[in-house]
Formats: sequence, C-alpha cells, structure tokens
Amino acid sequence: MTKPTKLTFVGGKPVLVTYDKVIRQDNDRAYNYHRKVEENEYLKFYHSTEWRHKRNEILERDYGLCQRCGSEAVLVDHIIPSKDDWEDRLDSSNLQSLCRECHKIKTKREWMKHHKGMKRYMNITMVCGLPASGKSTYVKRHMTDHDLIYDYDELMQALSGLPSRHRNHDVHDYIMLFFDQMLRKLKAEQTFNNVWIIRTLPDKRIDTLLSNYHHIDHIVIDTQPSVCEQRLIERKQKINFVKILNDFKRADFTGYRVVKNR
Ligand SMILES: [Zn+2]
Repeated sequence: MTKPTKLTFVGGKPVLVTYDKVIRQDNDRAYNYHRKVEENEYLKFYHSTEWRHKRNEILERDYGLCQRCGSEAVLVDHIIPSKDDWEDRLDSSNLQSLCRECHKIKTKREWMKHHKGMKRYMNITMVCGLPASGKSTYVKRHMTDHDLIYDYDELMQALSGLPSRHRNHDVHDYIMLFFDQMLRKLKAEQTFNNVWIIRTLPDKRIDTLLSNYHHIDHIVIDTQPSVCEQRLIERKQKINFVKILNDFKRADFTGYRVVKNR
C-alpha cells in the first residue's frame, strides 16, 4: 500500500515525498519557533532593570577595567555564556567586565567551541611528581608557544623573591587566589593550545571543577626518590623530603599515566 504524498522543495526543486517525511522546512519551522521563544526571553533579560543594576554593580566591582587586558571596559560578560547556564545569569562570580575587543575574541572562541561540537582543541594536563622529578623539564619538552603553565613553585619564587622551595604564607594565599580565578576562567575558554598544571600531588578538586568542560590528561613523573633527593641536595634545596615522599606514596594516582624518567 502506498502512503499519501506531499509536494515539497528539496534543493530548490519540486519533489513528491511521502506525507510523513520530515524535510528541512519543517525542521526550520520548529527551530525558528524555539529560537523566537528563546530569543524573546533572552532579549527581555538584557533589557531588564535587574540586569542593568547587576551590570553597573559588576563594572564598579571591576573598577571599570577590562578583566583581560586592563583597558576601559564597556560591557559585562558572562564567563560561562548565559545561554549555556541560564540559571546563573545573575551570579556575580560568573560575570566580568570586558572591553569590546576582548569580548569579540571571547565570543569568537565560544562560537568555534559550539560549532566544533565535542572536538576538543585545548588540552589540560596535570603533571604530578616528587620535587626534582623532572616535571618542568617534561612540560618544556612538550609545550607549544601558546600554552599556559601553572607551576606553584615557580610562582612562589617569582612572587616572593625567596630562593626556591621557601614559602611565604601570605604569598601562598595570593597564588591560590589566582589559581581559583584561573580555574573559573578555564571553564569557559579555549584560549590556549595546552594548559599545564604542575603539582606534587593529585588534586581531585581540579578534576571535579574542570572535567565537565575539558578533557584532562593526568601524568605522573616516575623518578627514583633517591635520584630526586640527590638532585635536591645538589641544588641546595632544603625541604622536608621524607614527609613529601610519605604523602606521595599515600596519594591516589588512579587514572594517571606513568612517565618513567631515569
Ligand atoms: Zn580588553
């Protein structure tokens, strides 16, 4: 038994198809309808008093400066796009002041991200290992010229001006503050080719925060503890190696790829 047919246009040419065949026009109609509803709500939000107040509040909080480049900000941006996270559209921690140029770059990246679907193009790699096990060396060997490297020890040295492995607890707070901000920013972005997070021990918190947004590679550099200790002595670095080694032995490296370093 033949089904009833309908006349439709495919690629500009009239064709007869079965009545229940969904062709592009029908899809377009459904799509346009949803788009209209969504965009209405979207536009309404950006014209609301609520948003205008919030917008001024954020510009004031950020001293009217673009949070990326420091020039004069002209708009307030959702770090995680409001379309992806409608519930949190008035959440201050998800808002930042931007200049037009930086906003353009960010929007372009988000567009690329959406249109490339699940294909990832910013890798995040956690590199763990004992002190002096060769973590930085590994990263330097694998990095490209558009990467971000978060290395706690290097930051401590740079920000405190102290010799390597000495800690200033107040500077520690600032490094951690920067780390939280960095994680927040990384959630929404595809800015770098690679992000390298260099740490001694694994941190489940980082995985929890980022794994919904990015794929994270986990690497642990496997170097003989005695070799590490010897290097530290040669570098005259005084740290409590025994304690660190104990923590390291107890740590959970499930899911980590072991890179032998001899
Ligand atoms: Zn800017």
